[in-house]
Amino acid sequence: MSAAPLIIDMHTHFFPETWPDLAEKFGTPDWPWMKHHGDGTATVMVGDKEFRPIYSACWDVDKRLEEMDQYGIDIQVICSTPVLFATTRPADQAAECAHIFNDAALEMCGRSSGRLLPLAQVPLQDIDTACNVLSQAMKDGHLGVQIGNHVDDKDLDDEGLVTFLQHCAAENAAVLVHPWDMLTGNRMKKYMLPWLVAMAAETQLSILSLILSGAFERIDKSLRICFAHGGGSFAYLLGRVDNAWKERDIVRVDCPNLPSSYVDRFFVDSAVFDHGALDLLIDVMGEERVMFGTDYPFPLGEIKMGELIRTAPKLNEQTKAKLFSQNAESWLATDLREGSAAE
Ligand SMILES: [Zn+2]
Repeated sequence: MSAAPLIIDMHTHFFPETWPDLAEKFGTPDWPWMKHHGDGTATVMVGDKEFRPIYSACWDVDKRLEEMDQYGIDIQVICSTPVLFATTRPADQAAECAHIFNDAALEMCGRSSGRLLPLAQVPLQDIDTACNVLSQAMKDGHLGVQIGNHVDDKDLDDEGLVTFLQHCAAENAAVLVHPWDMLTGNRMKKYMLPWLVAMAAETQLSILSLILSGAFERIDKSLRICFAHGGGSFAYLLGRVDNAWKERDIVRVDCPNLPSSYVDRFFVDSAVFDHGALDLLIDVMGEERVMFGTDYPFPLGEIKMGELIRTAPKLNEQTKAKLFSQNAESWLATDLREGSAAE
């Protein structure tokens, strides 16, 4: 096996080719389903509304491995998509939904010769059930869990959600926080503005909810948690947050330390699509806290996978190796070179 670092993409998504008709199964409308077009493309539908165009890399392991080879990607961490979380449904239905997609992830990974690694989903509207589903998923071979950045009006500093995060730490589960259920409304109806504006704000909100509430003081330091999309607007606005903490007692009332002192408590991915932004991210977070992640195979992901880091003019090979593999191995707490079929 070559000594070159593995290239690990820790933020990718899958959809199974098919799954049970959830609307029929649960007797309620507007569940996600797949409309296949017969040419390797499909539309994810939510009820009778089009949600997202996708293609076969979402469900076809061979197609996926072929595209990984094309861009020199050794390993992908795969997770479902937040539209499948069902956190507004009854918890037993969301739990059943989680089992369907968690099993589908394991099945896909099982056909990948060790090159796809699964993250689970859980019914986060019910903390006890979510903890049980997470424990089962870890026993079944998942390496962690992908969660939304909030559940209804509860941010990550909610007592129940903190309990869940503690459970993840105890189970040695990596956590990927993915923005979802975005702030929206009549002013963000067009141009994918919820994805372009609100997703970044959602992630900023969930990171600050953990910092400013003092939740990071209560959560075990062994928790390995990552925020998607470069942590949203967090890195760019951290100076503003630090300044507010220094100047206003109502900002620091629950947070004993300067907000920027908590950056060693979490990871972010590299999906920022711009070398200047990546430099800033590494500068703010430290080169041990940024991991290569693409959001593959969705249209808003890094289409030329790995190019941003490979062509980054200011990063040396050591830093690139951390971003491409060492940091993901720390986050996943696993030695991927061991047992991986990837060369
Ligand atoms: Zn994503």
